[in-house]
Amino acid sequence: LFVVFEGGEGAGKSTQLALLADRLRTQGRDVVVTREPGATPVGERIRSLLLDTTEGEAPSPRAEALLYAADRAHHVATVVRPALTRGGVVISDRYVDSSLAYQGAGRTLPVDEVSWLSSWATGGLKPDLVVLLDVDPRTGLSRVAARGESADRLEAESVAFHERVRYAFLDLAAADPKRYLVLDAGRPLKEIAGLVAQRIDELLGD
Ligand code: C5P
Repeated sequence: LFVVFEGGEGAGKSTQLALLADRLRTQGRDVVVTREPGATPVGERIRSLLLDTTEGEAPSPRAEALLYAADRAHHVATVVRPALTRGGVVISDRYVDSSLAYQGAGRTLPVDEVSWLSSWATGGLKPDLVVLLDVDPRTGLSRVAARGESADRLEAESVAFHERVRYAFLDLAAADPKRYLVLDAGRPLKEIAGLVAQRIDELLGD
């Protein structure tokens, strides 16, 4: 089973992902928790090229899209597919939809081209479920700032950028409702975790 968590900044993906992983491990399942970008040694270096940049040094939009695709290709080949092949549950923090939303809608690259690039990178591997934690960008960015993390890189993008990202995620979910669970990230942690657990149990046939 391949589950992906998506959402804007400060949506609480990592918290929910950890709660789900704990629950499944308690049930004795083989669980692999992973993320994009940066889940592998190659990926860590790509992540740093993408995110540890000072102003003026950031890769251009097409270069950025290719770097995310390179990270994803390596991630799928060396982490995700092997785990799925042995029957594990893979839970990834971000996947293809992040590229459609950030590089496509956010950076205004043609979404069909980013989609083609992503399916080339992944060999067409799609998640069984995408949990979309939907958050208003202003709320999300203030949550990031409240965690004490540097929000400079995120705040360098306009609110309009983060709004394009948000609506791109929502549009993807609306186009394929069976594969998505869209939740308001402002709901209590436990409530969100409960709804995710319920959907996963259905998928696992418990
Ligand atoms: O999920 P996490 O906060 O680790 O993501 C790191 C950053 O990478 C996010 O802030 C997001 O802006 C960016 N990102 C992106 N395009 C992707 C994936 C992540 O711009 N495809």
